[in-house]
Amino acid sequence: MLFPLRRLFTNKPNIHIRVAEIESVHPEEKYLLTNEGRVNYDILVLATGVTTNYYGNKDIEKHTYSLKSVADALYLRNAILSDLEKALTIREDDIRQGLLDLAIVGGGPTGVELAGSFAEFKKYILPQEYPELGRHTNGHPYHPGRQ
Ligand SMILES: Cc1cc2nc3c(=O)[nH]c(=O)nc-3n(C[C@H](O)[C@H](O)[C@H](O)COP(=O)(O)OP(=O)(O)OC[C@H]3O[C@@H](n4cnc5c(N)ncnc54)[C@H](O)[C@@H]3O)c2cc1C
Repeated sequence: MLFPLRRLFTNKPNIHIRVAEIESVHPEEKYLLTNEGRVNYDILVLATGVTTNYYGNKDIEKHTYSLKSVADALYLRNAILSDLEKALTIREDDIRQGLLDLAIVGGGPTGVELAGSFAEFKKYILPQEYPELGRHTNGHPYHPGRQ
């Protein structure tokens, strides 16, 4: 996902922005090879970020959504909304509850912030947009036309 760096550096003619994948670094000759070609440098600052650390737990890696980028956040949001939609049409309590339960792995700043956002979502948004799943129905949706 691209942050609006260009806006930040408007009127800075000595700054050039290129989006490319760095494929190799050649410190002796002072250049990078990217998928867009060669880039020479005098001083190189590499800031490639980090990836989610699962501390070797393959189950967590396999069964959870990571949250590092805006793209991850959008994917997570869509997955949760999709589960809520499914929960509205499912009659089996256990399966529906599984779709409504959320577990956060990792209690660092991201996990704690996410827990706060979910709490707000449950308190303010869920009753308005999903009243059939709200607290008053105790998670049991109303099925129009069903007995
Ligand atoms: C959900 C969440 C919320 C956060 N909230 C806050 C907050 O409120 N305040 C705060 O201060 N910090 C916050 N952080 C932390 C902050 O986002 C990070 O500390 C910061 O983004 C790290 O910056 P960075 O430049 O080191 O790495 P990144 O921002 O990850 O940037 C690294 C970039 O390098 C690129 N890259 C990697 N490999 C290559 C390659 N081979 N070629 C080309 N490009 C490559 C990646 O695509 C990426 O764009 C938050 C983090 C998360 C996950």
